[in-house]
Amino acid sequence: MIIILLGAPGSGKGTQAKMLSSKFNIPHISTGDIFRRNIKENTLLGKKAKMYIDKGQLVPDEVTCEIVDDRINMDDCRNGFILDGFPRTIFQANELENMLQKLQLEINYVLNIVVTNQSVITRISGRRMCNCGQIYHIDRNPTKIDGICDVCGEATYIRDDDQPKTIKTRLQAYHQATKPLEDYYLKKGLLINIDGEPAPKEVFNEVVTVI
Ligand code: ADP
Ligand code: ZN
Repeated sequence: MIIILLGAPGSGKGTQAKMLSSKFNIPHISTGDIFRRNIKENTLLGKKAKMYIDKGQLVPDEVTCEIVDDRINMDDCRNGFILDGFPRTIFQANELENMLQKLQLEINYVLNIVVTNQSVITRISGRRMCNCGQIYHIDRNPTKIDGICDVCGEATYIRDDDQPKTIKTRLQAYHQATKPLEDYYLKKGLLINIDGEPAPKEVFNEVVTVI
């Protein structure tokens, strides 16, 4: 099963993707996570991506498509995967078609997580990350001990690109480059809109009901 998650930054794509990944036992592929890991490890890819990400801009299509192509060609992707944060442009969506054609695979669902701009801003500004992959929110999903991850005990942190100024640029990029994908997948009969405003578990229930 191949599932694509669409939605604004902070719409909860990553959270839903993780839950889907464990329910269906297929890999969760987040281009944002791949970039962040590479930035942390200071790889060549990390260096290329960092200057765009820190400004809230999209990483160039060729760079992004290459990492996705590599990833979906790995053995663990044979039974499907969840794409979170890719495609984000029409160019990327067309490239994905080519990649999947070579693999003789097809997209099953495109889930569009719908939230208001205001929710995006509230969510992102309260978001806290942990290196183990857990994501928290200072009001909606706080850690038991302030600033310490419940799962692994490490200190949580704010993503570099979650600063207010950068959030604005990311939202602009979303509206300009990514929004047109809704129409793109609607025309292919793949788009399903999901109300992303309720709590993560409720959103997940809706997701599971529609697929
Ligand atoms: P969010 O969805 O909250 O913006 P992500 O972790 O998906 O967070 O992405 C973080 C950043 O990584 C983006 O702002 C962008 O700079 C870069 N990025 C991620 N996926 C892509 C993509 N498909 N194309 C271009 N840039 C991307
Ligand atoms: Zn942790």
